[in-house]
Amino acid sequence: MAWRDVMCGELRAHDADRRVTVAGWTDTRRDHGGLVFVDLRDHTGKLQLVINPECSPAAAQIAHEIRNEFVLQATGEVAARAPEAINPELPTGQVEVQVDELRIVSRSTPLPFQLDEENVDETLRLRYRWLDMRTERMQRNLRLNHTAITAIRNVMDERDFVDVWTPSMTRGTPEGARDFLLPVRLQPGKFFALAQSPQLFKQLCMVGGIDRYYQIATCWRDEDLRADRQFEFRQLDLEMAFVEREDVLDVMEACVVGAFEAAGVEPPQRPFPHLSYADAMLRYGSDKPDLRFEMEIQEATEVTRDSEFGVFKNAACVRYLVVPRTFSRSEQTRLEEIAKEWGAKGLANLAQVSKFLSERELEAFGVPEGSTALFVADEEPVVAHVLGLLRVHLARELDLIDAGRDVFHWILDFPLFEHSEEFGGWTFMHHPFTATVAGEEGQIEADSANVHGQHYDLIWNGWELGSGSIRIHEAEVQQAVFRVMGMDEDEQRDKFGFLLDALQMGPPPHGGFAMGIDRFIALLAREPDIRQVTAFPKIASGADPLTGAPTAYPDSALRELGIRLTDPQPE
Ligand code: ASP
Repeated sequence: MAWRDVMCGELRAHDADRRVTVAGWTDTRRDHGGLVFVDLRDHTGKLQLVINPECSPAAAQIAHEIRNEFVLQATGEVAARAPEAINPELPTGQVEVQVDELRIVSRSTPLPFQLDEENVDETLRLRYRWLDMRTERMQRNLRLNHTAITAIRNVMDERDFVDVWTPSMTRGTPEGARDFLLPVRLQPGKFFALAQSPQLFKQLCMVGGIDRYYQIATCWRDEDLRADRQFEFRQLDLEMAFVEREDVLDVMEACVVGAFEAAGVEPPQRPFPHLSYADAMLRYGSDKPDLRFEMEIQEATEVTRDSEFGVFKNAACVRYLVVPRTFSRSEQTRLEEIAKEWGAKGLANLAQVSKFLSERELEAFGVPEGSTALFVADEEPVVAHVLGLLRVHLARELDLIDAGRDVFHWILDFPLFEHSEEFGGWTFMHHPFTATVAGEEGQIEADSANVHGQHYDLIWNGWELGSGSIRIHEAEVQQAVFRVMGMDEDEQRDKFGFLLDALQMGPPPHGGFAMGIDRFIALLAREPDIRQVTAFPKIASGADPLTGAPTAYPDSALRELGIRLTDPQPE
């Protein structure tokens, strides 16, 4: 006999009198008036079973042993419930199965938490993830994951993209994070890096004539774990030959809209709006602004250049945020404290400093009745950073964010390089393979501070979903970028010789993109973090509470890999 011939959530009133076999998990058992009621559950829903000792004494005998999460198989007739017994909350609530054959297929020990319990400690949920997965929330999220990825694969397929598998074990790729290293038994002392992304392989696929590459690629980055970060994550990784920036943006937008439609969520309007990096930093103090609410930062540097107010006059940059609210003295003090934590020297409220300002200045700062202008005066990056954070902080606090909106947009025209305190020189803004804006190649070394990259970021409600760029496809240009980053010829050959060789053997112009799939799905599922859409995630310490990994290994195993620990192994 088959384990089941119908799923738990499928039966309806018109199934009355059918004889069925169902199988699933015990959600609840209730004993009432000599009868035993069981809610049987699978991923399609719940179904009520009734076991009546008068009709089936054998089944009733077994029924008394049933506990939550036991797996049952039951056969019986579908019966319409009496009107007063109908459960309008359940799609199967009009019927029940009157069981005459019952079997306990497997049993469960007492549960570490109940499936319908709210606020279960997350580590406990992850330790027993197989139980947590049975909840409606996890079932919905993991299935949404599949639906969205299938839709994206369909978009790729319609557009002639080819799924090419690239190695996980490789040389380090400069994506800006630390590599995970993998020792190699056959070559002691040498290590593979786990790929931070398939970046160079996908570029080589273009040199190899693949034309349209994609992959739902697993990537590894050794970074602190956060709401939207795990050590290992997946990205929709794509690369296209003979394209302009707009072609790449078009494909990405089609993927987003395809996934929304498949998930049954109203998709965002295309084309997604464009915002330059410079504009985003000026108006929103962030390169991933949340545009679900207004509150733009205003420039005041010119107007305050000759201010009587020394703080404004002497600062390299003065900007302000107009907030649609007034603040009490204590609220203002608290805001100023927060701004100082973010690096500001102070936070001036226009009302407090207006006596130091000229007519011309006051006229320039149009502040409506009932609003407050908050000023920061400092170096430009500090001003942008603090006002950007303040904008988001106040929008949350004042409840200005319409949580029902989905605002997508592109950030474009990034600088190619940024100054790095850490390296004491220039480093790439995206990665070193990004092409300059057409015609600016000559500026790479001559004017590194002002050269623009053809780099683009996709933003959803203030989250960076992913990045991409048009790539350099000329070896000499690539070498100029490496030189700006302080790499001499030997280092270039050592680290990227294979790329430079490929770029000398007929590379087509190309560009691509990578979008964090887990982050995308978490946002689509309206979940606060990617752990809720990942089957087996790790916790913030980097551990896997389910398997207990990572674990220590005996010295003998390490010796084989040519590794000796300097610190004794932890317990
Ligand atoms: N490799 C880049 C990343 O993983 C994306 C790209 O430029 O295509 O962020």
